[in-house]
Amino acid sequence: MYQYRWLDTRKIDLPLGKVVCVGRNYLDHIKELNNTIPEQPLLFMKGNNALADMTLPVAIPERGECHNELEIALLIGEQLNAASRDVSNAVLGVGLALDLTLRDVQSELKAKGYPWERAKAFDASCPVSPFVPFNDIDDVSELCFSLTVNGEIRQQGDAKMMMLSWQRLLQEIASVFTLYPGDLVLTGTPKGVGKIQTGDSLVAEMSEHLTITSRVA
Ligand code: ZN
Repeated sequence: MYQYRWLDTRKIDLPLGKVVCVGRNYLDHIKELNNTIPEQPLLFMKGNNALADMTLPVAIPERGECHNELEIALLIGEQLNAASRDVSNAVLGVGLALDLTLRDVQSELKAKGYPWERAKAFDASCPVSPFVPFNDIDDVSELCFSLTVNGEIRQQGDAKMMMLSWQRLLQEIASVFTLYPGDLVLTGTPKGVGKIQTGDSLVAEMSEHLTITSRVA
């Protein structure tokens, strides 16, 4: 089973919790899928069955068209709920995650008004990088990140471009779902989502902190 790790490979002593994700937090991605800007943050979850190690070959389902969504991931170290006033000390580590999405399945579910879990929450649908200690990062909202597929840059994100800042996002999530140590929050994808397939090489980078090389199994 997957285990959270620091960049120096030490294990992080936290259980695997739920993964809470936000849809449509970057305007450029809303436009590329012709979606509307949500009136309130569009939240969804994956279970801990979704967590996997991004440094190992990334397994994708054989059915459907699987899309990359590279996102900044916040590993929760302290409980947060609706009564929490300060969210900034609750993050223990910062990393990258792929919110793997079966786009054709999601489109069918969306059209019918059904929940998205079949498209979003399947086993290993959330490969994650090792984590950088929160305290080693000057300012999460200054982070830039990118995904390169087969040598071509496919996604470039800038945390400053989030419609809901990471702090406001944590507040919003915690007002609905209590966050426990070991939960993971994904902060949304910038544009550049697209199909990945067996054999693709992947490089995910986060400012000067992370460079993860992997491939699709
Ligand atoms: Zn996403």
